[in-house]
Amino acid sequence: MDLASIGEFGLIERIRSGQSLPSGVMGIGDDCAVIPRGDGLDTLVTTDLLLEDKHFILSDITPFQLGWKSASVNLSDIAAMGGTPVGSFLSIGLPNGLSAEWMDDFIAGYRKASGGCPLLGGDTTAADKLCINVGVLGECPHGKALLRSGAKPGDIIYVTGPLGDSGAGLKIILQGLKRDEDALKLIERHYLPNARLSEGLVLSGLEGVHSAMDISDGIASDLEHILKASGVGAEVDVTRLPISAELQRVSALYGWDTIALAVASGEDYELLFTASPEVKIPFENHYAIGRIVEGSGIVWKGTGEHFTGFRHF
Ligand code: ADP
Ligand code: MG
Repeated sequence: MDLASIGEFGLIERIRSGQSLPSGVMGIGDDCAVIPRGDGLDTLVTTDLLLEDKHFILSDITPFQLGWKSASVNLSDIAAMGGTPVGSFLSIGLPNGLSAEWMDDFIAGYRKASGGCPLLGGDTTAADKLCINVGVLGECPHGKALLRSGAKPGDIIYVTGPLGDSGAGLKIILQGLKRDEDALKLIERHYLPNARLSEGLVLSGLEGVHSAMDISDGIASDLEHILKASGVGAEVDVTRLPISAELQRVSALYGWDTIALAVASGEDYELLFTASPEVKIPFENHYAIGRIVEGSGIVWKGTGEHFTGFRHF
């Protein structure tokens, strides 16, 4: 069977099946694995791969931006669990032609995005194309990790920030479009995503927050993961999606569909979470975009269209 017909998630399911885990350990299927330590805390583990020409174009991205992004996309998975990062590991395959100074700038970006989370190890090798794998360890109080599986009918669905900016930034890069102030802002959102660690931590301490994940493939795909894991459906009102002024202006210029970009382009790294309507979210950047209902799948309100998220295969 070829990879396109089985798809990324069919393939992951194939990898997952037939394995039994030690009691209390949660493995494949959420933003991080969760391993109880027995001292009142759980260890969280996540890893992500960034490949030249697949995830970035080496001649366009600066080493600082690439280092930042490599750390941030992993920290975002710790944020999605409501965890605190403890340490990271960086493995890197380097093509000929990159300099020691390039590596210094990469590490400067990596450190800046990591904040207080130290780099604890990794591996270095030569490679034909630049290949970066980061792993991050985190922790949270035992049993308090925010999972994809807890959404309940009646929950409000929220995101922590504007959607579609990163995907629009990528279009500008790939299509070689002019980089005015708005375009540069969108490219910055693509190259320098912010892991929503403080928001994740707040959410994990709030009674009534039932599920969370980070948005790496667009909500059309990512919300489906929450729905499947929780055995529920959702209504999303596309008129309530937070769209930045920059995305509106650039989309007007090129005739782009802001809603399609907001729901089906990836790498926003905002949090997507669900909570009971009574819960007061104590930070400003939360936008209600819909609600959880009985059933399965997403009903899109305010549009006649149906969307699917980014597909890797
Ligand atoms: P995320 O976007 O949050 O990084 P993914 O969609 O990449 O998550 O992966 C979904 C789940 O599948 C995660 O739990 C991840 O650890 C797991 N996974 C992905 N690829 C593999 C693999 N090759 N082997 C084992 N687990 C994998
Ligand atoms: Mg994730």
